[in-house]
Amino acid sequence: MLAREVIEDLIKVLGKENVLTEQEDLLTYAYDATAAMKHHKPGVVVSPLNTEQVAEVVKIANRYKVPVYPRGSGTNLSGGTIPSEDSIVLSMLNLNKILEVDQDNLTATVQPGVIIQDLNNAVQQFGLIYPPDPGTVTTATMGGSVSECSGGLRGLKYGVTKHYIMGLQVVLANGEVIRWGGKTVKNVTGYDLVALFTGAEGTLGIITEILVKLIPAPEARKSIMAVFDDVDKAGKAIASIIRNKIIPATLEIMDNVTIQTVEHFVHAGLPLDAEAVLLIEVDGYKEVVEREAVLVEQILKEEQAADVKIAKDDKERDLLWLARRSALPALAQKRPTTVLEDATVPRSKIPDMIKAIRKIAEKHKLNIATFGHAGDGNLHPTILTDERDQDEMKRVHLAVDEIFQTAISLGGTLSGEHGIGIAKMKYLDWEFGEAGVALLRSMKEALDPNYVLNPGKIVRRD
Ligand SMILES: Cc1cc2nc3c(=O)[nH]c(=O)nc-3n(C[C@H](O)[C@H](O)[C@H](O)COP(=O)(O)OP(=O)(O)OC[C@H]3O[C@@H](n4cnc5c(N)ncnc54)[C@H](O)[C@@H]3O)c2cc1C
Repeated sequence: MLAREVIEDLIKVLGKENVLTEQEDLLTYAYDATAAMKHHKPGVVVSPLNTEQVAEVVKIANRYKVPVYPRGSGTNLSGGTIPSEDSIVLSMLNLNKILEVDQDNLTATVQPGVIIQDLNNAVQQFGLIYPPDPGTVTTATMGGSVSECSGGLRGLKYGVTKHYIMGLQVVLANGEVIRWGGKTVKNVTGYDLVALFTGAEGTLGIITEILVKLIPAPEARKSIMAVFDDVDKAGKAIASIIRNKIIPATLEIMDNVTIQTVEHFVHAGLPLDAEAVLLIEVDGYKEVVEREAVLVEQILKEEQAADVKIAKDDKERDLLWLARRSALPALAQKRPTTVLEDATVPRSKIPDMIKAIRKIAEKHKLNIATFGHAGDGNLHPTILTDERDQDEMKRVHLAVDEIFQTAISLGGTLSGEHGIGIAKMKYLDWEFGEAGVALLRSMKEALDPNYVLNPGKIVRRD
């Protein structure tokens, strides 16, 4: 049980109303969006209102050597917010203000609890966008998204979260507050700590303010669906589009299992017998978009697409993207447990990866659907299973091991956007070797010697 003095000290700093200790409340915070994990109730959940209170919470945690688990909306898929027993969960949802939109410097300054879509809604009136758009754009927080370095559907053309973070305010493990980076386009002063804290999954510091880069909203966009009777042909078409120097904003793939499931879910007109469907969006100036859409159509036909459709209007466009965004919810309805991975390979290896996933599914007698951000090689093999079936879960774990082995052997990486958390920690030395993991550990220990911040994620104490 968490010591009474810890809770009393927290109440002194935050007030009773921002400190939860009821068992039902604590149970809610034992979970995040990651399937098939072990869960523990924290000892307390606190919701600070400002940076000073965050710093005080971290100081209390350090004083009593109690772990602190920072949390945004809890939508991560790597067990990143799952707390240990008797720990402190630090909810960042009360720090939810957009502090500034600077039209001259094309930046915005936000608190970490701001929902990503709310930032986009706020800057839309100025003709600007913040491009990173994970599937959870309407629920995930900026702090969680920076800490996972989220990607999303527009990664191919616009990059991912780290390409938009210019400055951070961070509470360190000892409770000190630092600011790094700023509004200048160029900044090479000291080590790049903005890059270090971005994607650190809350293991090195607590982010309390974020300065992001904004870009002009594209004037026009066009969406295209291409149907293939063979995954290899779809893979070649992806490579060919890029080789022809067209960089679509979005280039997504869905395999046959995904197509069938999504079509029964949203009735978007997807062809049930297709082996693969590519969903593509080009955006930019109107004239360029018109030209690129025609070129993409031509390339797809040359690459033997069985059918190519350009969305005629916003209604048709929205239906196509609804289909893609429904992939996970549709698949999740099929079985009680959905294990979603994000093995990522160079885009030229997409067909090899999809075929390997199929073989793994057959070998372990599992139902695996694959969809994802084909343009940037980031696939989401999704295992539909039931965590109560222990025999099947053993096969799921073996299949996941093999998926990651395959991704690495193809020159890929363990995670394109979902992070390591607890879920992928055991595979890290496959990618970095023992020396690499030791380096990660020494960085963690330099910044958080007592393992107070989100311990048990990315690297464990030796
Ligand atoms: C249906 C679905 C679709 C998804 N689609 C995508 C996708 O397309 N692309 C993608 O990249 N991800 C995707 N995700 C994963 C997830 O939504 C993102 O990682 C999201 O950005 C996490 O935000 P959050 O607010 O939920 O963070 P949380 O899950 O609450 O936290 C994420 C991590 O950040 C840490 N953290 C949170 N706030 C702070 C802070 N202020 N300071 C320090 N550390 C902090 C936490 O400890 C944790 O390690 C998807 C998830 C689901 C369930």
